[in-house]
Amino acid sequence: MHPEVLAVGCHPDDIEFLMAGTFFLLKKAGCSLHYINLANGNCGTSKLGRGTIRRIRRREAVRACEYIGAAFHGSFTSDLAVFYRQKLIRKLTAVVRETRPDIMLVLSPEDYMEDHMNTARISVTAAFCRGMKNYRTVPRREPYMKDVVLYHAMPYGLTDWMHRKIDPEFLVNIGSVIDSKEGMLACHSSQKVWLDESQGHDSYLTAMREMSRKTGALFGKEIYAEGWRRHLYLGFSEKDADPLGDMLEKYIVRPSE
Ligand SMILES: [Zn+2]
Repeated sequence: MHPEVLAVGCHPDDIEFLMAGTFFLLKKAGCSLHYINLANGNCGTSKLGRGTIRRIRRREAVRACEYIGAAFHGSFTSDLAVFYRQKLIRKLTAVVRETRPDIMLVLSPEDYMEDHMNTARISVTAAFCRGMKNYRTVPRREPYMKDVVLYHAMPYGLTDWMHRKIDPEFLVNIGSVIDSKEGMLACHSSQKVWLDESQGHDSYLTAMREMSRKTGALFGKEIYAEGWRRHLYLGFSEKDADPLGDMLEKYIVRPSE
Protein backbone atom coordinates (compact mmCIF):
# COMPACT_ATOMS: atom_id res chain seq x y z
CA MET A 1 0.00 0.00 0.00
CA HIS A 2 1.23 3.46 -0.93
CA PRO A 3 -0.63 6.05 1.13
CA GLU A 4 -1.43 9.24 -0.75
CA VAL A 5 -0.51 12.52 0.91
CA LEU A 6 -1.89 15.90 -0.20
CA ALA A 7 -0.19 19.02 1.17
CA VAL A 8 -2.15 22.26 0.75
CA GLY A 9 -0.31 25.53 1.20
CA CYS A 10 -1.44 29.03 0.41
CA HIS A 11 1.58 30.80 -1.11
CA PRO A 12 4.43 29.10 -2.93
CA ASP A 13 6.89 28.34 -0.07
CA ASP A 14 4.35 27.80 2.79
CA ILE A 15 4.64 24.03 2.45
CA GLU A 16 8.43 24.39 2.38
CA PHE A 17 8.50 26.48 5.57
CA LEU A 18 5.94 24.60 7.64
CA MET A 19 5.55 21.05 6.34
CA ALA A 20 8.40 19.95 4.08
CA GLY A 21 10.39 17.99 6.69
CA THR A 22 7.40 15.79 7.45
CA PHE A 23 6.65 15.63 3.72
CA PHE A 24 10.16 14.26 3.06
CA LEU A 25 9.82 11.67 5.85
CA LEU A 26 6.46 10.51 4.47
CA LYS A 27 8.08 10.13 1.06
CA LYS A 28 10.82 7.98 2.60
CA ALA A 29 8.10 5.92 4.32
CA GLY A 30 6.65 5.07 0.89
CA CYS A 31 3.91 7.66 0.41
CA SER A 32 2.98 9.32 -2.88
CA LEU A 33 3.04 13.08 -2.54
CA HIS A 34 0.79 15.77 -4.00
CA TYR A 35 1.49 19.51 -3.64
CA ILE A 36 -0.74 22.50 -4.16
CA ASN A 37 -0.71 26.17 -3.19
CA LEU A 38 -4.06 27.94 -3.55
CA ALA A 39 -2.48 31.31 -4.38
CA ASN A 40 0.01 32.04 -7.13
CA GLY A 41 2.41 34.27 -5.18
CA ASN A 42 1.84 37.33 -7.39
CA CYS A 43 2.45 39.78 -4.50
CA GLY A 44 5.80 38.27 -3.53
CA THR A 45 7.94 40.97 -5.12
CA SER A 46 8.91 44.62 -4.72
CA LYS A 47 10.08 44.99 -8.33
CA LEU A 48 8.41 42.70 -10.88
CA GLY A 49 5.00 42.92 -12.53
CA ARG A 50 2.21 40.52 -11.57
CA GLY A 51 2.42 38.31 -14.66
CA THR A 52 6.19 38.00 -14.48
CA ILE A 53 6.34 37.09 -10.80
CA ARG A 54 3.42 34.69 -11.22
CA ARG A 55 5.28 32.78 -13.92
CA ILE A 56 8.52 32.78 -11.94
CA ARG A 57 6.84 31.50 -8.79
CA ARG A 58 5.01 28.74 -10.62
CA ARG A 59 8.33 27.61 -12.09
CA GLU A 60 9.91 27.65 -8.65
CA ALA A 61 7.06 25.62 -7.14
CA VAL A 62 7.33 23.07 -9.97
CA ARG A 63 11.07 22.83 -9.28
CA ALA A 64 10.39 22.33 -5.56
CA CYS A 65 8.03 19.47 -6.44
CA GLU A 66 10.66 17.89 -8.66
CA TYR A 67 13.18 18.24 -5.84
CA ILE A 68 11.04 16.24 -3.41
CA GLY A 69 9.29 14.03 -5.97
CA ALA A 70 5.73 15.33 -5.51
CA ALA A 71 3.01 15.76 -8.11
CA PHE A 72 2.43 19.48 -8.76
CA HIS A 73 -1.10 20.89 -8.89
CA GLY A 74 -1.48 24.48 -10.12
CA SER A 75 -2.83 27.33 -7.98
CA PHE A 76 -6.34 28.78 -8.37
CA THR A 77 -6.15 32.43 -7.47
CA SER A 78 -4.00 35.42 -6.55
CA ASP A 79 -2.44 36.43 -3.26
CA LEU A 80 -4.94 38.21 -0.99
CA ALA A 81 -7.84 36.77 -3.01
CA VAL A 82 -8.05 33.61 -0.94
CA PHE A 83 -11.53 33.86 0.53
CA TYR A 84 -13.77 31.12 1.82
CA ARG A 85 -15.89 30.97 -1.32
CA GLN A 86 -17.63 28.35 -3.41
CA LYS A 87 -15.36 28.64 -6.44
CA LEU A 88 -12.20 27.78 -4.52
CA ILE A 89 -13.89 25.01 -2.53
CA ARG A 90 -15.19 23.40 -5.74
CA LYS A 91 -11.73 23.50 -7.31
CA LEU A 92 -9.91 22.11 -4.30
CA THR A 93 -12.54 19.39 -3.79
CA ALA A 94 -11.79 18.32 -7.38
CA VAL A 95 -8.12 17.94 -6.45
CA VAL A 96 -9.05 15.93 -3.34
CA ARG A 97 -11.23 13.63 -5.49
CA GLU A 98 -8.43 13.21 -8.02
CA THR A 99 -5.74 12.42 -5.48
CA ARG A 100 -7.85 10.54 -2.87
CA PRO A 101 -5.46 11.29 -0.02
CA ASP A 102 -5.12 9.18 3.14
CA ILE A 103 -3.36 12.11 4.80
CA MET A 104 -3.79 15.84 4.22
CA LEU A 105 -1.23 18.32 5.50
CA VAL A 106 -2.97 21.67 5.84
CA LEU A 107 -2.27 25.11 7.29
CA SER A 108 -3.20 26.21 10.79
CA PRO A 109 -6.73 27.62 11.23
CA GLU A 110 -5.09 30.34 13.36
CA ASP A 111 -2.23 32.16 11.71
CA TYR A 112 -0.78 35.60 11.10
CA MET A 113 -2.75 36.36 7.93
CA GLU A 114 -6.18 35.79 6.41
CA ASP A 115 -4.90 33.99 3.29
CA HIS A 116 -3.47 31.22 5.46
CA MET A 117 -6.51 30.89 7.71
CA ASN A 118 -8.90 30.87 4.75
CA THR A 119 -6.77 28.21 3.06
CA ALA A 120 -7.04 26.05 6.17
CA ARG A 121 -10.83 26.36 6.16
CA ILE A 122 -11.12 25.71 2.42
CA SER A 123 -8.90 22.62 2.81
CA VAL A 124 -11.09 21.20 5.57
CA THR A 125 -14.31 21.73 3.62
CA ALA A 126 -12.83 20.31 0.42
CA ALA A 127 -11.91 17.13 2.28
CA PHE A 128 -15.32 17.04 3.94
CA CYS A 129 -17.08 17.15 0.54
CA ARG A 130 -15.01 14.35 -1.03
CA GLY A 131 -17.89 11.84 -0.90
CA MET A 132 -20.92 14.10 -1.27
CA LYS A 133 -22.84 12.96 -4.32
CA ASN A 134 -24.58 16.27 -4.93
CA TYR A 135 -21.58 18.50 -4.38
CA ARG A 136 -20.32 19.53 -7.80
CA THR A 137 -16.65 20.17 -8.30
CA VAL A 138 -14.79 22.21 -10.93
CA PRO A 139 -13.75 20.39 -13.00
CA ARG A 140 -16.32 17.67 -12.40
CA ARG A 141 -14.89 14.72 -10.48
CA GLU A 142 -16.67 11.68 -9.09
CA PRO A 143 -17.19 11.52 -5.32
CA TYR A 144 -15.59 8.66 -3.41
CA MET A 145 -15.58 7.40 0.17
CA LYS A 146 -12.34 6.73 1.99
CA ASP A 147 -10.99 7.89 5.32
CA VAL A 148 -8.72 10.90 5.34
CA VAL A 149 -6.95 12.37 8.35
CA LEU A 150 -6.12 16.08 8.35
CA TYR A 151 -3.08 17.42 10.15
CA HIS A 152 -2.76 21.15 10.76
CA ALA A 153 0.75 22.59 10.62
CA MET A 154 1.91 25.22 13.07
CA PRO A 155 1.12 28.87 12.30
CA TYR A 156 3.98 30.82 10.77
CA GLY A 157 4.99 32.60 13.99
CA LEU A 158 3.96 29.68 16.25
CA THR A 159 1.17 31.88 17.69
CA ASP A 160 -2.19 33.14 16.46
CA TRP A 161 -2.48 36.76 15.37
CA MET A 162 -3.34 37.87 18.90
CA HIS A 163 -0.02 36.52 20.24
CA ARG A 164 -1.69 33.47 21.78
CA LYS A 165 0.57 30.44 21.82
CA ILE A 166 -0.54 27.46 19.73
CA ASP A 167 0.32 24.10 21.31
CA PRO A 168 1.09 21.30 18.88
CA GLU A 169 -0.36 17.85 19.60
CA PHE A 170 2.98 16.30 18.67
CA LEU A 171 6.25 17.16 16.94
CA VAL A 172 8.01 15.42 14.11
CA ASN A 173 11.80 15.40 14.53
CA ILE A 174 13.02 16.55 11.10
CA GLY A 175 16.74 16.68 11.94
CA SER A 176 17.55 13.93 9.42
CA VAL A 177 15.92 15.86 6.55
CA ILE A 178 16.57 19.50 7.49
CA ASP A 179 19.10 19.87 4.64
CA SER A 180 16.54 18.50 2.17
CA LYS A 181 13.93 20.88 3.57
CA GLU A 182 16.37 23.72 3.04
CA GLY A 183 17.11 22.55 -0.50
CA MET A 184 13.41 22.52 -1.32
CA LEU A 185 12.92 26.00 0.14
CA ALA A 186 15.91 27.27 -1.83
CA CYS A 187 14.07 26.35 -5.06
CA HIS A 188 12.07 29.54 -4.41
CA SER A 189 15.00 31.67 -5.47
CA SER A 190 12.93 34.82 -6.16
CA GLN A 191 11.86 34.88 -2.50
CA LYS A 192 15.34 34.06 -1.28
CA VAL A 193 16.85 36.95 -3.26
CA TRP A 194 14.13 39.36 -2.10
CA LEU A 195 14.53 38.49 1.60
CA ASP A 196 18.29 38.22 1.49
CA GLU A 197 18.47 41.70 -0.08
CA SER A 198 16.05 43.30 2.35
CA GLN A 199 17.03 41.45 5.51
CA GLY A 200 20.56 40.20 5.09
CA HIS A 201 22.51 37.33 3.61
CA ASP A 202 20.76 33.94 3.78
CA SER A 203 17.97 35.25 6.00
CA TYR A 204 15.37 33.24 4.03
CA LEU A 205 16.93 29.86 4.78
CA THR A 206 18.01 30.92 8.26
CA ALA A 207 14.42 31.92 9.11
CA MET A 208 13.22 28.40 8.24
CA ARG A 209 15.91 26.74 10.37
CA GLU A 210 15.20 29.11 13.23
CA MET A 211 11.47 28.36 13.09
CA SER A 212 12.16 24.60 13.02
CA ARG A 213 14.47 24.99 16.02
CA LYS A 214 11.92 27.05 17.94
CA THR A 215 9.29 24.40 17.21
CA GLY A 216 11.52 21.74 18.80
CA ALA A 217 11.99 24.03 21.80
CA LEU A 218 8.20 24.07 22.36
CA PHE A 219 8.64 20.64 23.96
CA GLY A 220 12.01 21.51 25.49
CA LYS A 221 14.00 19.66 22.81
CA GLU A 222 17.13 20.80 21.03
CA ILE A 223 15.96 19.46 17.68
CA TYR A 224 14.66 20.75 14.36
CA ALA A 225 10.97 19.93 14.34
CA GLU A 226 7.59 20.55 12.78
CA GLY A 227 4.49 20.65 14.97
CA TRP A 228 1.12 19.14 14.09
CA ARG A 229 -2.45 19.02 15.35
CA ARG A 230 -4.98 16.47 14.13
CA HIS A 231 -8.30 17.84 12.94
CA LEU A 232 -11.41 16.42 14.63
CA TYR A 233 -12.26 13.02 13.09
CA LEU A 234 -16.01 13.66 12.53
CA GLY A 235 -16.77 13.47 8.81
CA PHE A 236 -13.28 12.26 7.99
CA SER A 237 -12.12 9.04 9.65
CA GLU A 238 -12.30 6.58 12.54
CA LYS A 239 -11.96 8.27 15.91
CA ASP A 240 -8.38 7.28 16.69
CA ALA A 241 -6.98 7.18 13.16
CA ASP A 242 -3.46 8.58 13.02
CA PRO A 243 -1.74 7.30 9.87
CA LEU A 244 1.02 9.93 10.06
CA GLY A 245 1.80 9.02 13.67
CA ASP A 246 1.84 5.31 12.78
CA MET A 247 4.10 5.75 9.78
CA LEU A 248 6.57 8.16 11.34
CA GLU A 249 6.52 6.65 14.83
CA LYS A 250 10.26 6.86 15.41
CA TYR A 251 10.30 10.59 14.61
CA ILE A 252 7.31 11.55 16.74
CA VAL A 253 7.84 13.52 19.97
CA ARG A 254 4.92 13.82 22.40
CA PRO A 255 4.69 16.55 25.05
CA SER A 256 5.36 14.24 28.01
CA GLU A 257 8.47 12.63 26.54
ZN1 LIG B 1 2.09 32.21 3.07
